[in-house]
Amino acid sequence: MIHPTVQKTIFLSSPHMSGKEQHYIQEAFETNWIAPLGPNVDAFEKEIAAFTGVNEAAAVSSGTAAIHLALSLLGVGKGDTVFCSTLTFIASANPILYLGAEPVFIDSERETWNMSPQGLATALNDAAQKGKLPKAVIVVNLYGQSAKMEELTALCDQYEVPMIEDAAESLGSSYKRKQSGSFGRFGIFSFNGNKIITTSGGGMLVSNDAAAIHKARFLATQARDPAPHYQHSKIGYNYRMSNVLAGIGRAQLKVLEERVEARRAIFERYEQALSTLPGIQFMPELEDTYSNRWLTAMTVDEQEAGVSVRELIEGLAFEKIEARPVWKPLHLQPLFKDAKYFPHGEKESISEQLFANGICLPSGSNMEELDQSRVIHCIKNSITAKEVERKII
Ligand SMILES: *Cc1c(COP(=O)(O)O)cnc(C)c1O
Repeated sequence: MIHPTVQKTIFLSSPHMSGKEQHYIQEAFETNWIAPLGPNVDAFEKEIAAFTGVNEAAAVSSGTAAIHLALSLLGVGKGDTVFCSTLTFIASANPILYLGAEPVFIDSERETWNMSPQGLATALNDAAQKGKLPKAVIVVNLYGQSAKMEELTALCDQYEVPMIEDAAESLGSSYKRKQSGSFGRFGIFSFNGNKIITTSGGGMLVSNDAAAIHKARFLATQARDPAPHYQHSKIGYNYRMSNVLAGIGRAQLKVLEERVEARRAIFERYEQALSTLPGIQFMPELEDTYSNRWLTAMTVDEQEAGVSVRELIEGLAFEKIEARPVWKPLHLQPLFKDAKYFPHGEKESISEQLFANGICLPSGSNMEELDQSRVIHCIKNSITAKEVERKII
């Protein structure tokens, strides 16, 4: 075995530049469109809207900012409640707190690991009975896999509650041949450094409601009233994307489909090499959906595999391989200890099971096959070593 110190670190998901970004950056410099906004921003918005199949898009400084704007546009304020998937990154829910509203968390189901329609139905019914429906439902598409949009949309429509689709992880994915991000009243994307394409930092708010997106652009530029002097009658934010970064985004969007293919190939290689090991189960892909497989995720049954996910992650870290547990459900976060939570079933909390057994493997589209073999060998060794140990005992 090669000594770990001479091996390079394998990251979970690192930025993958195409080489064409420089062209757009150079153009921005040559025309001195350095300040926020400019032709790259306008073009990037149009290109994302066209790709996603929505009417309008607003480029902003982060995915978090896009969620904040969506909630603002839906009139969320103090004392309101907002429903949100529990199995997700904190950024899905933080903007609820920015607006002084209260999050209510909804569990996952097994087939997509995303929001359980059963859990949502229970929560909406409960809210209706108490006479206080949520102002919005934030549905997350975890690790690239689309949630059960048909069921969730039907429930939101039934109670007339708007949906925000948090597609930060699922750009390039689809549900019944319709692009991820195009389902809710609003959709949001993230171009953070670890996402499938990146602008180093950035986000996008999309909608078929063009007027709402115009208003989002207004709110994102300090809500300046149309007057020659600086006049403001609403709370605004400084949330727009810079023209230089939008240039990076345009070049990245051109290679998105290649990036999806690469990540899907990585998933398939892991699955082929590891799915026959005892206790290993890969994240499913729901029929008639197409996942960008942003991160390869799987569960490890400690009894069958002989190792826990924590031990597996430690073993990988020793070999300079970055793996992570599945997101810690938000209803278990200290920040949200007082928040309400609706599990999938009365005695069945799927997100807690996924958190206990789930692991995300390095999945960057710039990973070499040799890197992936290193990850595979390390996992195989951890599990088969335990098998041998048990047989000897
Ligand atoms: C990355 C991410 C966000 C936030 O995006 P930023 O651009 O980092 O603010 C929101 N939701 C989910 C599910 C994410 O993974």
